[in-house]
Amino acid sequence: MRVYNFSSGPSTLPLPVLERAAAEMTDANGTGQSVMEMSHRSGDFKPIIEKTEALLRELMGIPSNYRVLFLQGGASLQFSMIPLNLAAREAGSPKKRASYVETGIWAKKAAEEGAKYADVAVLASSKDRDYTYIPPAPAPDPGDAFYHITLNNTIVGTKWDKLPETGPVPLAADISSCILSEPLEVSKFGILYAGAQKNLGPAGTTVVIIREDLIGRAPSWTPALLRYDISAGEGSMYNTPPCYGIYIMGLVLEWLKGLGGVAAIGEVNRKKAELLYSYLESSRIFRSPVEKPFRSLMNIPFIVSGTDPENRKDLETRFVREAAAEGLVNLAGHRLVGGMRASIYNAMPREGVRALIAFIEKFEKKEGKK
Ligand SMILES: *Cc1c(COP(=O)(O)O)cnc(C)c1O
Repeated sequence: MRVYNFSSGPSTLPLPVLERAAAEMTDANGTGQSVMEMSHRSGDFKPIIEKTEALLRELMGIPSNYRVLFLQGGASLQFSMIPLNLAAREAGSPKKRASYVETGIWAKKAAEEGAKYADVAVLASSKDRDYTYIPPAPAPDPGDAFYHITLNNTIVGTKWDKLPETGPVPLAADISSCILSEPLEVSKFGILYAGAQKNLGPAGTTVVIIREDLIGRAPSWTPALLRYDISAGEGSMYNTPPCYGIYIMGLVLEWLKGLGGVAAIGEVNRKKAELLYSYLESSRIFRSPVEKPFRSLMNIPFIVSGTDPENRKDLETRFVREAAAEGLVNLAGHRLVGGMRASIYNAMPREGVRALIAFIEKFEKKEGKK
């Protein structure tokens, strides 16, 4: 039996995608091989990577002056690659300034890594209230190399309700946990990146969408594998790309297109999130810790309200354990923040959210009787 998997990542994939991959496992497209066994430079694999890119461009409406790269190293490697390529200088020269807004643990990590290659200015932070809101974003210096934000904060469950005004400074955004979840205007950004394991496919592939004029700015000492110009010049094939992950991503994108694309899934996602948030509003035991205008559609944390910390921890542990026993798995919050968290990415069906709500309701009745 398949469970409803609320993991924040790697996360649930659409069942039709898994079934198709299984059917094609030993013989993909009549080649007599699995995609895993193909040479990445062969005529068998070329249409797969081309199809994946074309679908991503179509679904996201990526303008022609942007390049799409399929890299490795996860979203975390982009914390290094962006400052390295855009703000680092030749040995001996001062680093360029880059602006960051700290809206959570990933955003903080990005800024910390950035400080190795850029003169980092953290313009705003929401740490004072445990990252439960998005702070007003100050303008950057016009000379900044880039302005980095985490569009959806996976761990705390916030998202930017409107983008910062950055003028001529390229906006760089981590969209790992919200890519393709609702419409996004790519032309507002200089660079977008996402690890695949939230909304795109299996772990191991990172998608980078970069405006052409930002390519080719890396200092000469940059390692070849970390240079955007080399990846772009070689069509993401400077070395062996994550072939199987790119193939599964293509199947996920095909599935999404079949559902009507990003606008259609955005509507579904809004409804799914609304169901859960509105239930939490009326809950006698649980509540959302996130301020209303900034609530994520993808990651929905909830905590036990009131009660003393001991009792709270006990209730939360029981909730996660009992939910898992009923096939609702991976509901524990991030190890650094505790509580519960339901990640409801594109591939989580509405029935999964309904099943979760029904479980919460049952749990509350049982606990209320004590
Ligand atoms: C998961 C996640 C990351 C880390 O991704 P890796 O691919 O494991 O490096 C970074 N940022 C955000 C917003 C995430 O959700």
